[in-house]
Amino acid sequence: MAKIPMTTPLVEMDGDEMTRILWKMIKDELLLPYIDLKTEYYDLGLEHRNETDDQVTMDSAEATKKYGVAVKCATITPNAARMTEYHLKEMWKSPNGTIRAALDGTVFRAPIQVKGIEPCVKNWKKPITLARHAYGDVYKNTEIKVPGPGKAELVFTAEDGTQTRELIHTFDGPGVLQGIHNTDRSITSFARACFSYALDTKQDLWFATKDTISKKYDHNFKDIFQDVYEKEYKEKFEAAGLEYFYTLIDDAVARVMKTEGGFIWACKNYDGDVMSDMVSSACGSLAMMTSVLVSPDGVYEYEAAHGTVQRHYYKHLKGEETSTNSVATIFAWTGALRKRGELDGISDLVVFADKLEQATLKTIEDGKMTKDLALITSLENVTVLNSENFIKEIRKTYEALV
Ligand code: NAP
Ligand code: MG
Repeated sequence: MAKIPMTTPLVEMDGDEMTRILWKMIKDELLLPYIDLKTEYYDLGLEHRNETDDQVTMDSAEATKKYGVAVKCATITPNAARMTEYHLKEMWKSPNGTIRAALDGTVFRAPIQVKGIEPCVKNWKKPITLARHAYGDVYKNTEIKVPGPGKAELVFTAEDGTQTRELIHTFDGPGVLQGIHNTDRSITSFARACFSYALDTKQDLWFATKDTISKKYDHNFKDIFQDVYEKEYKEKFEAAGLEYFYTLIDDAVARVMKTEGGFIWACKNYDGDVMSDMVSSACGSLAMMTSVLVSPDGVYEYEAAHGTVQRHYYKHLKGEETSTNSVATIFAWTGALRKRGELDGISDLVVFADKLEQATLKTIEDGKMTKDLALITSLENVTVLNSENFIKEIRKTYEALV
């Protein structure tokens, strides 16, 4: 069969350790035989980031803005141990942080659901997508440990020198203080990314904060979402039969437990951190979680939600067999290829992405899976495959499907 042609290249960001090994296997077994794959390749492996003084990460982010769709392999975020291991010139920043800042994006994460790996919450039939605001609040805080009695105030000095003051607390003994902020610009682009993604994926959107207690800070989030909705998205939502609503975060948590899923849950930075771990672990495994960074002007970067699976890589280096789950990385590729197909009007590419996802899930449902899934599945008599054979088995399933 002729290979499926592509017109615009995907921005391909290669990465580190075990996921780099999976990356090549996925391309060789599942993509190159079927697609005339066009990519603009950036090697974000830590060695090459170090060689280029991290310029390659910046370049890959610029290329993503230019072409609109990227697929990224997991990468090492350096720490002290990695400095020695890779003889780094500097403790380079997290590539994900760099790319997120360049794209001004919001991260959407959704579990990949499959028969045999049931969510702990019985009524969750469809995936719940978490949209996490990735700027500010407690992640950019300023803290003081108060040593003893004194007065704490919140002071804002405008450019013209005028000051606004609010008493925080009069301490009669030791305590703690924290200053946090956010910007209307960042909240607005978060809101736009959420509304656009909801329309794009045809799902309702929920947003929740604690505005009854935080009458200015959280209320500002609520107001901006409402304003953006009414001015820019209300008509489109109504035309698409979709719903947007705001509720209190505790009410949202209670309702989420009772739903069937199948919607987008937008969260402030901290709530998103906590709730995405709750949703993903309730759905079985980090290796079954997709992640896509979406910028307000419609640029997409697809990746797996997990890291480079270092422990498995060290086993691999020693020549031992690994059983690393490649599903999230495969879905990063299919997500990117489908989006490219949609943007370029190449329906064969969209069909290919759908079929490859279908084949991946069917392989698991047929009882052939990696060890992490075998440990939690409700299916009986499963076959545990190694990293390579799992991918080869998916290829067999795919060939039988088409
Ligand atoms: P990790 O790579 O997510 O792996 C943690 C553990 O989760 C693994 O040891 C493994 O458990 C299990 N696991 C994760 N993905 C799996 C998969 N695909 N198949 C099977 N099991 C899987 O986190 P880490 O080992 O703490 O971090 C390694 C490196 O990844 C770090 O350098 C970190 O900076 C980087 N990281 C990158 C990203 C990113 O690029 N998006 C995200 C997070 C972390 P068992 O060992 O029990 O089998
Ligand atoms: Mg977390």
